[in-house]
Amino acid sequence: MTEIKIYNTKARAKEVFAPIDPENVRLYVCGPTVYDRAHLGNARPVVVFDVLQRLLRHVYGADHVTYVRNFTDVDDKINATALSRKEAGAEGSLEELVHERSNETIAWYLKDMGALGAQEPDHMPRATEFIAPMISMIEDLIAKGHAYEAEGHVLFAVESYKNYGALSGRSVDDMIAGARVEVAPYKRNPMDFVLWKPSTDELPGWDSPWGRGRPGWHIECSAMSHDLLGASFDIHGGGNDLQFPHHENEIAQSKCAHPDADFARYWMHNEMLQVEGKKMSKSLGNFFTVRDLLDQGVPGEVIRFVFLGTHYRKPMDWTEKKRAEAEATLRKWRGLTAGIKPESRPSPTVVAVLADDLNTAGALTEMHKLAGAGEAATLLASARMVGLLGDDMGEWYQNDANYDSIQELVEELLVARTEARKAKDWPRADMLRDGFKSAGVKVTDTPDGPVWSVERDEIDSLPLFHAVRLAFGNGDNAELQRQLKQAKRAGVFFADSNQLDVSPAWRGLPDSDFVREKLTDLKNLLVLNS
Ligand SMILES: [Zn+2]
Repeated sequence: MTEIKIYNTKARAKEVFAPIDPENVRLYVCGPTVYDRAHLGNARPVVVFDVLQRLLRHVYGADHVTYVRNFTDVDDKINATALSRKEAGAEGSLEELVHERSNETIAWYLKDMGALGAQEPDHMPRATEFIAPMISMIEDLIAKGHAYEAEGHVLFAVESYKNYGALSGRSVDDMIAGARVEVAPYKRNPMDFVLWKPSTDELPGWDSPWGRGRPGWHIECSAMSHDLLGASFDIHGGGNDLQFPHHENEIAQSKCAHPDADFARYWMHNEMLQVEGKKMSKSLGNFFTVRDLLDQGVPGEVIRFVFLGTHYRKPMDWTEKKRAEAEATLRKWRGLTAGIKPESRPSPTVVAVLADDLNTAGALTEMHKLAGAGEAATLLASARMVGLLGDDMGEWYQNDANYDSIQELVEELLVARTEARKAKDWPRADMLRDGFKSAGVKVTDTPDGPVWSVERDEIDSLPLFHAVRLAFGNGDNAELQRQLKQAKRAGVFFADSNQLDVSPAWRGLPDSDFVREKLTDLKNLLVLNS
């Protein structure tokens, strides 16, 4: 059997993975708070732990892994949307409207993550459906002297758990100094955290021994993992940013409620994501969602490939260059494996590299070697193991039937360009230069001759979004729809089409039909002018 090694945050070392029960390997990953679209950084743990569960299933058997990822649907931002809908006259109780809003965002999430090739976990518990187990866990913690009630709140007494801070390796004093601890008069110790809090009439709430209220965030994962995986399970995963306080608090709650159990035996944390070397943030204007990228025409498979190119414990930098390289590689690999039946097993080298603390970057390097050696059937089986080159992910490649005719047109036009330059026919050379640009085709001269690519920033997009904003300002809806469609075909997208005067516009790849049409126009123009 393949030996899997995992860097265990708890031990601060790489350890050989030994499951409690090889017949049922159990994995819990902290899921999203479902108040809006997932941004690109949210997708990183999803892809990382998707590869992990695929590896575990490869080693222990597809039916011998239980993978749980929760949805946090108790949150102030979800409440705010539900409340504003209620005030606008929507029918149903506040709890029902909260549920409805969560349903919307959960559907978005699953669709977007599915586009990245992430398989759905075996269980996707929602916090609002596990209120009863949370209440009984809180009651148990009070009975055991680890929690106390104060002014309608229930708080966990951090001092009652001596190993608090062991996961992240901090002392309680350091944590108080470093963290933004909420000081409240009802807390015995500023580090004590909320297990239960009261709800006003404007907030969703559930009846409890401490009055109508709602759970704190941390207790969700402790109660849900216990319910679905038991008091001891194998791996707990999540982003680095969750180590403290979320995971420390989960450990404190679970270990105090079930002192004889292990809770999670291996803790895995992925590093964060950056964009072009900078932290993703709304104020830097580099904040985008997975849906934004997909809508710009970046295939989910390309996003996944870029993610896998960086080891999960290193910061991952999303760059335009990586996007383009990933697309070129996938195009090559898909061409090489088209019509090929995959080998029954992936390459043992790829599996061994991947099993060494989920070295996805190393696995891709091995796959490059397979592609170079022309071992298409083994490449296909190996790539599918990490969720690449599947039929379900290949729609972008098949849909791009335009690609061949675009290539043919460009090559023909490049010959005309060389001839025009040789003949010093500058008006004709200029016509070609402008024509390529308006089709989104970037031509670069190299010592080996011109190379070309379809680029997102080649087309002059300013006139396009000015036309959209003008039509919007004039209130001319028919014209607006026409301009929006035109802009979208050329790769100009707006964040919110109900707020075109303020919402940001960004550039994506032009539609391949659009590129083909523009190149055909250029070809016809050349014929007319010859
Ligand atoms: Zn959690």
